[in-house]
Amino acid sequence: MTTTLITGANKGIGHETARQLIAAGHTVYVGARDVERGRRAAEQLGARFVLLDVTDDATVEAAAKTIEADGGLDVLINNAGIETRGEGNSVPTAETVTAEQMRNTFETNVFGVVRVTHAFLPLLQRSAAPVVVNVSSGLASLTHLSDPDHPAHFYPGVAYPTSKTAVNMLTVQFAKAFPNMRINSVEPGFTKTDLNGNTGTQTVEQAARIIVRMAQIAPDGPTGGFFDINGRLPW
Ligand code: NDP
Repeated sequence: MTTTLITGANKGIGHETARQLIAAGHTVYVGARDVERGRRAAEQLGARFVLLDVTDDATVEAAAKTIEADGGLDVLINNAGIETRGEGNSVPTAETVTAEQMRNTFETNVFGVVRVTHAFLPLLQRSAAPVVVNVSSGLASLTHLSDPDHPAHFYPGVAYPTSKTAVNMLTVQFAKAFPNMRINSVEPGFTKTDLNGNTGTQTVEQAARIIVRMAQIAPDGPTGGFFDINGRLPW
């Protein structure tokens, strides 16, 4: 039996990832920062609910204690993420971004990953096949964003891509430090969710596929890499 925690699983890509992993036989914890939204999603999915705000040490530590008492964890999916918006709901650009917007974005997308991973490391270390999947973005890629011919080149935002590039580097460094674990980051693709005002071109079903695949990675599979559904990505 594989036990999996997905942060920010009350909606969007995380919710669909929970659905697909439950169908594959995982016992899934829906991590959510709001009790009502989290419980409702867990009930609907046939999952367990755990209160978990990735920006809050107390809820993260309490969640780790709860899951440890229930029997432990095999797979951690760091999915919770935000795209900070500024005036007129636009993404902060190089001209407009503030340190506060950078800090807010990093608090969830980067420090949240560190906080949650650290809290669950002792549990994962006790698993026979520990796995971490960090949900990154194609916008994390220095290769794509600096290539004038790549569609990602035209994304004007500053806070979100830099936070996801940091997630990719965290993935590399954690993978080096914990060679017994499979730790990878993934790019789900531009997906219709609340994160982008439902402007994405993919469905959550399509987006969740790479997360589900990397959550089910074999113990001798790759670690420290960045992948989308078609394979390894440059970044
Ligand atoms: P959604 O906005 O639909 O879902 C984001 C989820 O994260 C929600 O459940 C939200 O909870 C949760 N969340 C946000 N902040 C916190 C927090 N502090 N603690 C716990 N949960 C939190 O977005 P997506 O499903 O699109 O995004 C999921 C992941 O996929 C993100 O990491 C995103 O960056 C990444 N991604 C998305 C892409 C896309 O095109 N949609 C493309 C590439 C990557 P709540 O309901 O309480 O707000």
